[in-house]
Amino acid sequence: MKIVCAWCQKEIGSTPSHLENERISHGLCDDCRIKMEYNFTSLEDFIEKLNAPIMIMDKEGLVQGANQSVSIMLQTSKEAIKIKKGEM
Ligand SMILES: [Zn+2]
Repeated sequence: MKIVCAWCQKEIGSTPSHLENERISHGLCDDCRIKMEYNFTSLEDFIEKLNAPIMIMDKEGLVQGANQSVSIMLQTSKEAIKIKKGEM
């Protein structure tokens, strides 16, 4: 029996089938489970719910976002923390 995520339809795995006519079962994949647990819709939304200062960096190490904890710690706005290409 194939098990697919009820939300995103991603295949999670399979179990030995017991019933001939029941080939698909539904579950919840890890990504969707985390989304539901923390009830967030974007990465920015997710880090905002964490109780630690979190910064998002791109592959070049430039800060692309930060949560409110960072903003409070650095005593500046979240917008001011972001570093755009060419500013360094
Ligand atoms: Zn899913």
